[in-house]
Parts: sequence; C-alpha cells; structure tokens
Amino acid sequence: MPIGNVAQVLRLVRSNIRGLKPYVGGAQIISYAEWAKLNQNESPYPPPPSVRAVGNKFNEPGFLNRYPPGDHKELKGRLAAHLGLAPEQITFGNGSDEVLQNVALVFLDKGDKLAYMKPDYSMWPVYEQLTGASPRIIDLPDDYTLPVDRVSAERPKLVFFSNPHTPSGTLTPIDDVRRLCEELFPNIIVEDEAYADFAEGNSLKLLEDCPNLIVTKTFSKAFALAGMRLGYGLGHPSVISQIDAIRLPYNINAATYAVGLAALEPESIEYYDGMIRLIKSERNRLRGSLENVGFSVRPSHANFVLAKTESPEMAEMLYHGLAKNNILVRYFSDERLVDCIRITVGTPEENDHLIAEIGELLG
Ligand code: PMP
Repeated sequence: MPIGNVAQVLRLVRSNIRGLKPYVGGAQIISYAEWAKLNQNESPYPPPPSVRAVGNKFNEPGFLNRYPPGDHKELKGRLAAHLGLAPEQITFGNGSDEVLQNVALVFLDKGDKLAYMKPDYSMWPVYEQLTGASPRIIDLPDDYTLPVDRVSAERPKLVFFSNPHTPSGTLTPIDDVRRLCEELFPNIIVEDEAYADFAEGNSLKLLEDCPNLIVTKTFSKAFALAGMRLGYGLGHPSVISQIDAIRLPYNINAATYAVGLAALEPESIEYYDGMIRLIKSERNRLRGSLENVGFSVRPSHANFVLAKTESPEMAEMLYHGLAKNNILVRYFSDERLVDCIRITVGTPEENDHLIAEIGELLG
C-alpha cells in the first residue's frame, strides 16, 4: 500500500519554485565532425595541448579518489596574477552560472527588488524565481545599451546585466557602469562579463572604487573550456568572502581545477590570445558577409553576431533550413528577436559554409 499521494508531497515545494521554468539552452549534437555548431557561443577550437594533457593525470595516485583542493588557493593565486587583482577578490564556481546563483542567494530575500534587462541572459528569471525576489524587468533600448537612468530610477537591491550584452554583442561603456554603481550605491551591480575577453574593454578597474560591483567571468568561451565548467566572480574581498561562505564544498572538481591551472600558464595565455584574435577577425568578416546578403548586424564585442533578417518568417526558415544542412544557429521566440538569428563565430571554414548555405536558402 502506498503511504500517501505524491500531490501531498509536492504541496511542500516552496511556492516560488513551483512555477519555475528551468533554463533551456541551445540544441546539442553528438557528432561535431558532421555539424557546424554555431548556437551556444562555445569556442570552435580545442584548448592548447598542455591543457588537454591534464587528461593524463587521471592515472596519478590520488587524483580521482581524493577530494580536490577546497580553498582554490593555487588557482586563485594564478588567476589573480593574470588579472592583476588580489586572490581574495576571486570566487570560483561550476561555470559562472554557479557564481551568479551564489550571488543571488547571498543578496536576495523573498520580495527584494531585482532588476534585469530584456532581452538578456535567460537565467535572470531563474534566479528571480529561485529567491522569490520581486522583478523589475527593463526593456532595453533599440541599441541594446544599458539604460542607466531607468535602472537607477527603479532603485533595485540588485541588478543583473550582461556586458557585452547577449544576444546582441553590444558593449556598454565603462563610464556608464561606473555611474550605475554610484547611483545605486550601496545596492549591488552584477555585471556578467562572460564574453568580455572578446571586447576591447572590461570593468575590472572599477572594482577598486566600487565595493558594490561584482563582475562574473568564465573559462567557457575565450578559454575554450565550456565542457569543464569553470567560472569566477570578482569583487571586494569582504563581499567575495560572503559568496565563498555559501559555496558547496569542493565545488571545483579535480580535473577542472587542474585544467584551470594549466590554462593560466603563460604559454596557454599566448595561445588563447591568438585564438581570440582569430575569432575577432572572423567575427568582422562574418558580419560583413551577413550584411552583404541583406541582414542588419550590430557591431559585436563578443564571439557571436545577431543578424536581423527581413521578417520572423525568414528567421525561422533560416533556422530550420540551416539545421537541415547540419548547421545549428540560435533562434529566439522572444518578440524583440523573432526576426533575428544569433550566430556563434565558427572556424573560417564553418563561417564560409554558413554563408554559402544562407545564400542557397535565400535563393
Ligand atoms: N552569462 C551569459 C551571458 C552566458 O551566455 C553564459 C553561457 N550560457 C553564462 C553566463 C554562463 O556561462 P558558464 O556557466 O559556462 O560560465
């Protein structure tokens, strides 16, 4: 005899979790050899050989059966040296997603005012529902830059925004970020810089003056390590220690930890710099080719471009037509983006293939 009905159990779920819509990412595929996967802003290139060689460590005594370092001391030290910051200003997460969630859990109580932009990263509503915060959703202007005055006017306890902005690739200037930090002080500004390694600037120097600023970054994009899940948050040491206090024990696994160390070796950084240069030059070439077929494409400071086509029907036709030809791009149902496709910058061959297929589909 069952001891009761599951509906009775489900009634115990917190009310803000009951309606939570989980994150839905871009489609994933099995054979990378047969597909051009241009839908999740990953790197089309593998990380350098020295980083891949970390795989051999699985055979070292203790590597798999012992817990990894829990204080992240060596990794913090190496990243701090790379960024020109102090190790105490860094917290690591299982992807920057985990850091962003930790920030939400540290600062947001049920009913607290949380501001985020639309369109922007699709995890903002998830953190809203997870914490039960009260959302202020701000429509971005047509140029997708951060509307500082409108955000300030809402007086949120915390604001999330991506910079470079996703999915447009637009960069909000550092002076605007600084003004937002000043106007909202002491309330919290969370700047998601997942793509900033592809931009000409970032907000790291604001960390000196703005103890209410938290910047998150990732190894998933420019470091070509999406599969390893390593991200980090940067802020004032006292704020970072609050975030670190709620980290799960050993949240960075042994393989990811070792890969992170290898990725920060000087010769790896040199390799990544070359890769970033290549992706940026392909980004500009891709934008030009997409404009040549009649799309409007905003200048992008990330590793993707947002192409506005003639109509929602055309965007949808291209999405499906490209998928039939083994090319995945991102298509959004959001009303502001229905006539757009977002394309991750691929290898030169993938980008040529994409442009040729778009030409065919447009007849
Ligand atoms: N922010 C933005 C804007 C993203 O697109 C992503 C990737 N989905 C992330 C954060 C999270 O990246 P990760 O967890 O891989 O560091």
